[in-house]
This record gives sequence, structure tokens and C-alpha cells, in this order.
Amino acid sequence: MSSISRKRKLADEKKVFQVKWEDLYFVNEVSDTIQCLICKQTISVPKVYNVRRHYETMHSEKYDAYTGKIREDNVIQLK
Ligand SMILES: [Zn+2]
Repeated sequence: MSSISRKRKLADEKKVFQVKWEDLYFVNEVSDTIQCLICKQTISVPKVYNVRRHYETMHSEKYDAYTGKIREDNVIQLK
């Protein structure tokens, strides 16, 4: 056998969701996918780029007004 073994990076196996995204982008992890807390839409690619793009496109206008404690409270309420 001379086939090149497929090397999988350990990073691929790691959970990509980061808790800080909750406060930053109003998302929550639901069984391996990321769901937007505001519109309940699932973000299929769990990468920060996609999460941020969703938030910025859909919600930043309204939710950027919430900062600090108010933002945290909103996240808790939406969950
Ligand atoms: Zn959304």
C-alpha cells in the first residue's frame, strides 16, 4: 500500500463554538450546530466568519446598541 494516509488535524475534531460568541454575536450552540438567538436561524458553517457575517448582516443595526451588561442580559433572555 502506497496510498497517502489522510492526516486529520486534531483541530478538526475540536469544538469550534466559543462561548464568547454568545455575547458577541447572539448565538448559541445547539447539538453541533450554531443557532442565532435572535432569529433562530441555524448557521451551517460554525466558523467565526460566518457567525459574524450573519450577525452583521441581519442584526448589528439593532443589537449593536446593546453593550456590556445589557447585552449579556439580552443573551440570557433570548436563550
Ligand atoms: Zn439571526
